[in-house]
Amino acid sequence: MNRQGYFQRIVVVAAAAVLVAGCAKEDTGGTSESGVPLIKSGVLTTCTHLPYAPFQSKDSSGKVVGFDVALIDLVATKLGVTQEIVDTPFEGIKSGSDLNSGKCDVAAAGMTITDERKQVLDFSEPYFDATQALAVLTGSPVKTLEELAGKRLGVQGGTTGEDYIKKQVAEKKLDIEVVSYRDLAALQQALATNQVVAAVNDLPVWNEYIKANPSRVAVAAGFDTGEQYGFAVKKGNTALLTTVNEAIAAARADGTYDKIYATWIGDKPTS
Ligand code: GLN
Repeated sequence: MNRQGYFQRIVVVAAAAVLVAGCAKEDTGGTSESGVPLIKSGVLTTCTHLPYAPFQSKDSSGKVVGFDVALIDLVATKLGVTQEIVDTPFEGIKSGSDLNSGKCDVAAAGMTITDERKQVLDFSEPYFDATQALAVLTGSPVKTLEELAGKRLGVQGGTTGEDYIKKQVAEKKLDIEVVSYRDLAALQQALATNQVVAAVNDLPVWNEYIKANPSRVAVAAGFDTGEQYGFAVKKGNTALLTTVNEAIAAARADGTYDKIYATWIGDKPTS
């Protein structure tokens, strides 16, 4: 190689090194002050599926707020970073693919802990108890699933509510047309506009909807599915999971959890 060729080669190698270093800085994420690795430095990235009030929804200024948001803010504070929220379909959240692909560090989506999901996600300690509920338009006489024979019942795709209803319909051989909607807003809209006669989702989201739209919708029946919500991290991310669990435990111990509950859900159940 002549002198000029050698020189050019050095320049190319140096340029490549700068390029790699530049990329590396963007791609390898960061580490929080407490040593927990994060996909993006300085922030705790949360995957959620909007809207799901009172757990996560946009306020009038467009900011994502809610019960889950407030609890994950405590985790972010503990890590010395701020929370950044990514809105993404529930399917990618519950299947673990968003966490596995590095879209986010943690999933917080009013997500029920199930054995199936435990295969693909690591869940925190439970942070909320929920059941399913059947909502109807105010004045509707429907009180049971059986009374929906020959009618359309709305559910939210990919959720435990959908699974529960499909199982009931199969087991009891009910003649109900189950219609799946892509998110809670679409399901509520379908009920409000009579595209379905009733709709199933988690009880707290119906309670919230009824608070916001008094006299439009009523809860006709509850199904005690005994669900518990958990936050999730990528399988094996014990450093972050430990921090999440510690933040929840601390909030329960010092009254912060109760305050957040009172703000977003209402009075704490006495049980
Ligand atoms: N709790 C339900 C589930 O986990 C619904 C969650 C949601 O729609 N965000 O399937």
